[in-house]
Amino acid sequence: MIGKPTQLASLTAAAALIAAVWIAPASSFAKSATAVAPAAGYPLDNIPRMVSKRGRVRCPKVKLVRYRGSTVRYSSRITVFKGFKQRLKRFERIVKQVATEVYGRAPYRIRHWGGYSCRRMGTRAYRDFISEHALGNAIDVYGFDFSWVSRRKAKRLNIGRRMRRPFRITVKKHWKATRGMGKVHARFLRVLFKRLAAKRNVFTVLLGPGYPGHSDHFHFDVAPWRLVSIDM
Ligand SMILES: [Zn+2]
Repeated sequence: MIGKPTQLASLTAAAALIAAVWIAPASSFAKSATAVAPAAGYPLDNIPRMVSKRGRVRCPKVKLVRYRGSTVRYSSRITVFKGFKQRLKRFERIVKQVATEVYGRAPYRIRHWGGYSCRRMGTRAYRDFISEHALGNAIDVYGFDFSWVSRRKAKRLNIGRRMRRPFRITVKKHWKATRGMGKVHARFLRVLFKRLAAKRNVFTVLLGPGYPGHSDHFHFDVAPWRLVSIDM
C-alpha cells in the first residue's frame, strides 16, 4: 500500500496551492516513507529514509555529481545525486519559460544554498528521517539574478524600460511584495512555483514561505512521497 501521500497526486491543481495544503501526521509520514512503491521508477525510491533518532546520522552512499546548470546556470556548482541533475535540467527550462513570459528573458543565475548535505530532516517531529539533502536529492533556491538588456534588444523583445535594468529577485524580499517591480517579482515567484507543482516529472516535494523554516527559500526534492506546502 502506498498510503496517504498517493492521495496527494491531486494536489497538483493550482487551486490546492492556495494555502499550506498538507502536513502529514508523523505516523502516516513514517508509514509512507517505508512503504511507498517506486511507481515512477526513480532510482532513490527504495533507499530507506529512517534512521535512529540519536547519535551521528549515517547517510547512504549515492552517486554524486557536481553540476553548474545547463539552460540557466547556478550561482555556484551544486553537488547532487546523478539522477537529480536531470530534474534540475527540467527545473531550469521551466524557470526560463516563466521568466521569459514575465521579463522577456531568462535569469542568468539561479541562487541556491546547496544540494547535498548529510543531515536529518529539519522538522523536529521527523528527526528519525534523513533529509533528502542527505541523498543529494534536493535543492534550496533563494533567488534569481537578471542581467541588463540593451535598448535595441529590449525593443525587439518588447521589454519595458523598468524591466531592462539588472535586478535580483529573492524569495525573502519578494514573496509578499505588493508594490512596483516587487509585485511583478512576487507574481514571477508564484507562477514559477505553481508551474513546477503542476509537473509530475520535476519535483515531488515543493516547500516555501509558510512551511516552517522556509520563509526565505524554496525547497525542492524528489522524495518518494508528495508534499506541496506554501502560503500563496
Ligand atoms: Zn532544503
